[in-house]
Amino acid sequence: MRKSLPAIGLNHDAIFAQMTAMTAHDADWRRGRIPLYVFKGNETVGEIGRDAFVRFFNENGLGGKRAFLGLKKMEDEVLEIGMTLFRAPGDAAGYFTTGGSESIIVAVKACRDFARKRRGNPRLRGNLVMPYSAHPAFTKAAMLMDLETRRVPVATDYRADIAAMEQAIDGDTLMLVGSAPCFPYGTIDPITELGELAQRRDLWLHVDACVGGYIAPFAAKAGYAIPEFDFSIPGVMSLSADLHKFGFCPKPASTIFYRSADAAGFQPFDVDDWPGGRFTTATIAGTRPGGAIAGAWATLHAMGEEGYVNTAGQIMEVARAYRRDVEASGLQVIGEPDLSILAFTSREVDMHAVSEGMARRGWVPGVVRQPFGLHLMLSMLHAPAREDYIRDLRSALDEARTSGIHRVGTDASY
Ligand SMILES: *Cc1c(COP(=O)(O)O)cnc(C)c1O
Repeated sequence: MRKSLPAIGLNHDAIFAQMTAMTAHDADWRRGRIPLYVFKGNETVGEIGRDAFVRFFNENGLGGKRAFLGLKKMEDEVLEIGMTLFRAPGDAAGYFTTGGSESIIVAVKACRDFARKRRGNPRLRGNLVMPYSAHPAFTKAAMLMDLETRRVPVATDYRADIAAMEQAIDGDTLMLVGSAPCFPYGTIDPITELGELAQRRDLWLHVDACVGGYIAPFAAKAGYAIPEFDFSIPGVMSLSADLHKFGFCPKPASTIFYRSADAAGFQPFDVDDWPGGRFTTATIAGTRPGGAIAGAWATLHAMGEEGYVNTAGQIMEVARAYRRDVEASGLQVIGEPDLSILAFTSREVDMHAVSEGMARRGWVPGVVRQPFGLHLMLSMLHAPAREDYIRDLRSALDEARTSGIHRVGTDASY
C-alpha cells in the first residue's frame, strides 16, 4: 500500500523512534565502515559547524542581499578565504553553491556563454574535452546544455593524457578539464601542462578540485609533495572546490571560482520577463540553506590554517598507513595517489569477490573499474577502523582465493 500522511501529526518522541528504527540497518559511518559520502576532521569542529547550521536553519541564502546581510557577509568571507587559498588574482570572483555538481554545472554554463559571446555565435553548442576519470557532473552539465563530452583515456599513470586530449580538441571545443585529484584514482592531473595546452589553443581550463581543494594546499603546507593545481597556473580559468568534503563543512556547501570578474559574470542567470520583478541568481538553486553558509563560515574559522594543516597531515598519515597495509596484503595500488583517495587491485584474485566479501563483513565497499578494484576515500573517520578493515580485507582475500568464484557480478557504482 502506498504511504499517506498520518491523519494526526505525531509527537517528537514517536517521530524520532520511527526514524531510529528506519535507519537501524544503515551502514555504520561513525565507525568508518563507509569509504565515501561522509567526512570527518575532528569532533569539536564538527559540532561548531552543526551548531552554526542549526542557528541559521531558517535563513535563506537567496535573501542575502535584501534581508540577511550578515549571512551575505559570511558568504563573501568564505569566498575570499577560498580565493586566497587558491591564489586567485585580485580581479577573481566566486560563488557559494550546494555542491560539486552544481559548481561544475554552473562553470560549464559560464564557459559556454563566454565562448558564445567571444566567438559571436549565440547558438554555439560545442564540446568538453576531459580525461575519462573526470566526474560525471561534467556529463550532467553537457546533458543539460546539449553539449558533447569527449572523454579521453587516461595515460598509463592514471593521469590526464595531454597529447591524447590535444587530439580530441577541434574548433567547437569549449572547455578542457583537469581534476585535482580525480575521484576514481586519487591522482592529480598534470594541471600545469593542461594550462599550457589551454593557452596554446585559447581554451578555458576548468580545474575540478571538488574533493582535493580544501585538503591539497594544507597537505602541501604540512610538507607533502603535492603537484600544483590552482590559479597560479596560467590558463586555469575556473576552479571548483567542495567545502562539504575535506573542508569538513556541513552539507550542502561548495565553491566555484573564476580567474576574472568578467569570466564570473557569465555564470549568473538574469531573468526579468515575469511579474515578480527582476530575478538574478548566480546559482541553479534559488532558495539556499542559510545553515550551509553559516556552517561553512563557522567551520573555516574553527579550523583555522593550523587546524587544516594538522588535519591534512593526520589524514595523509592515515592514507599512508592504509596503503602500506594494503600493499603488505599482496594488492597493487592503482597509479600514485596524491592525497587520501586510494584504489587498489589484484593480479591474482578476483576483486569482485573481495568486494562482496567486504560487504558481507559489514563494509560498504567503494569500487573503481578499469581496472576493477576497491576504492577508499579516507578521512579521520577511518583512522580507528584501519585494523578491522585490513583484517577483514585479508580474510575476504583468502576466501576469494580459495572459493575460486569469478565475476560474481558486482559492477562499480558510486
Ligand atoms: C564529489 C566530487 C564532485 C561532485 O560533488 P558533489 O558535491 O557530490 O556534487 C565532483 N568532482 C569530484 C572530483 C568529486 O570528488
